[in-house]
Amino acid sequence: MDAPVIDLLQLYPRDMNIYGDWGNVLVLRKRLQLRGYDVRLHEYNPGDEFPGQVDLIVGGGGQDSGQNKIQADLHALGGRLKELADDGVPMLAICGLYQLFGNFFKTHTGDVIKGIGLLNVDTVGGPTRMIGNTVLDSSEFGTVIGYENHSGQTFLKEGVQPFGTVTKGEGNNGQDGTEGARYRNVVASYLHGSLLPKNPAVADFLVRHAALRRHGSFNDVRLDVPYEAEARESSAARPR
Ligand code: GLN
Repeated sequence: MDAPVIDLLQLYPRDMNIYGDWGNVLVLRKRLQLRGYDVRLHEYNPGDEFPGQVDLIVGGGGQDSGQNKIQADLHALGGRLKELADDGVPMLAICGLYQLFGNFFKTHTGDVIKGIGLLNVDTVGGPTRMIGNTVLDSSEFGTVIGYENHSGQTFLKEGVQPFGTVTKGEGNNGQDGTEGARYRNVVASYLHGSLLPKNPAVADFLVRHAALRRHGSFNDVRLDVPYEAEARESSAARPR
């Protein structure tokens, strides 16, 4: 029998892919392959044709200038992405793309980059960047470890839950203790690092929902990845 296929889409790898965000794609692909899935990786840049079949979507962070470059294309795609999110497609949006999945990002220079409103969050650029190692407490995923670097301060609105609560670092806005956002099977976060190698529970949430939605089942074998526990412990202990 042929291996079951998962179509994994990386949004805007050319303009939105910093601080190791590509590592998220590698982890999702590897964890699916180790469980017997045949992963088709699609890279989508502005102007490309959107694939007909998509099971899992990932997008990374970017400079304000990168966000400006993709904004028109993202608006054209917005309706499609919202439909997919509402239909349960798992998505991971990091930092710059997280902001543009929201309603808007008003940069510290006053430019407004419109978002697609997939997440009911607003972002306003602050005078200082929030930079450093970050640790979260998440009711769904346990301890989450990463690295943040953003000027945008994001505020969650109705219908959106936080991804976690910061125990080290600034999080969404440096004020209310929240970090990231959760809606349906969408996970959005400021955390680079990349996020998924150190947070397998988050990676497995995404791959599980992709497989369940496409195939009606998930081959949930336990993966013993060497050095994973060590990497988590040493990262969590790192100074801010
Ligand atoms: N340009 C955005 C900000 O500074 C996002 C940065 C990022 O993706 N790291 O807030």
